[in-house]
Amino acid sequence: MVKTRFAPSPTGYLHIGGARTALFSWAFARKQGGKFVLRIEDTDRERSTQPSVQAILDGLAWLGLDYDEGPYYQMQRLDRYQQVAEQLLKQGLAYHCYASREEIDALREQQRAAGLKPRYDGRWRDSQQTPPAGVTPVVRLKTPLEGYVTFHDLVKGKIAVANQELDDLVLMRSDGTPTYNFGVVIDDLDMGVTHVIRGDDHVNNTPRQINILKALGAPIPQYVHVTMILGADGERLSKRHGAVSVLHYRDQGYLPEALFNYLARLGWSHGDEEIFSREQLIEWFDLSAISHSPARFNEEKLAWLNAHYLKVADDERLVPLLLPFLQERACKISNTDTLPKIINLLKGRVSTLAELADAAIYFFRVVVPPQTLKVEHFKPEIRPVMVDLLDRFSVIDWQLESIHTEIKQVVTRHGLKFPAVAMPLRLMVTGEVKTPAIDAVLALIGQAETLRRMRQQLE
Ligand code: GLU
Repeated sequence: MVKTRFAPSPTGYLHIGGARTALFSWAFARKQGGKFVLRIEDTDRERSTQPSVQAILDGLAWLGLDYDEGPYYQMQRLDRYQQVAEQLLKQGLAYHCYASREEIDALREQQRAAGLKPRYDGRWRDSQQTPPAGVTPVVRLKTPLEGYVTFHDLVKGKIAVANQELDDLVLMRSDGTPTYNFGVVIDDLDMGVTHVIRGDDHVNNTPRQINILKALGAPIPQYVHVTMILGADGERLSKRHGAVSVLHYRDQGYLPEALFNYLARLGWSHGDEEIFSREQLIEWFDLSAISHSPARFNEEKLAWLNAHYLKVADDERLVPLLLPFLQERACKISNTDTLPKIINLLKGRVSTLAELADAAIYFFRVVVPPQTLKVEHFKPEIRPVMVDLLDRFSVIDWQLESIHTEIKQVVTRHGLKFPAVAMPLRLMVTGEVKTPAIDAVLALIGQAETLRRMRQQLE
């Protein structure tokens, strides 16, 4: 059975790139009827934090990337790594190394000065020296001295690395924690991972991991190293490019299905399809369609997809999602009945829930029109027209049709064009000059509130 995993280190937020890797692993497992595992690689005690674990869990949940096993935590598995290290030591496949950090640093310095690649020289590999007192050793793997490590990466093709290029890597640190390479290997093995799908920043680690697996006599999984995501400038996507955290997009009012769809297309494609559902992705997902060249993150395309998903979203569903954005904008919502209609009226004009909330403010509180717009649109001669309209609005039955009719009649009565009336009216009631059809807006603002705002402006 196919088993994939996502193995983030909880040292920051859930990055767009991490989420994309998780999504590929998830999609492949779902497509194959396999299992998807979540493992938190928290052995870096200094940098791992609980809020970061939470951000990973929240981000995955928000994107709907559900896992069948986990979350496992490496820090809860220390005994297991210790046990495997002991086994390798007993078999003579690993050894204790007592070299101090200063010694290793000095060695590296020497090698650099001699124009060599810094590399541990195996000084404790077959050493008969008496261990120095009071030093807790690290455990190193006896990397084969000859031959090649060869593997077939499903994205990158055949990769071969000479063992001479690799030194005796540390498996266990002296504080009893495993190194990344050791932990990842034991976990993938114990958890039965068949396909290691991860960023290609780890491709150089793979030969080392394979050597550990070989020492253990364990099967080698399939490797799938996906290319990095780049920013618009062609550099690896990072904080410098702006928002790279999944939860940032949630907090800016993106819909999870939009980010999901966008991430799926980032370095993977199915013909010319741009908009597709989770079910379609699962149906189509194929590792061979993963791109061999790095994908570029494009905020505009993400915004375009989000605009699409807002348009097709059920208005009722958007109500609770929009509320916090309105509250942030000091909108007091006593009654949510009209919200689905307001959303329906506005959602075709925006790309995010934050923009939707910006566009909806005047439905909930008075927005004072800027003086410049008043000067431009609210000329003295328009005043009697507005007074006339106010009188008529006070007596009609407040329906879209009747509001529309009244505006048209006032337009005719005063020999004006429709915008000459609609514009100042819009400005008086909404404080803005760009809104959907003013009759539809007024119908939703309500009669009493419309009259109140008009009177205020006519005072
Ligand atoms: N903890 C590693 C990282 O976050 C995982 C690498 C892997 O998937 O093997 O980069």
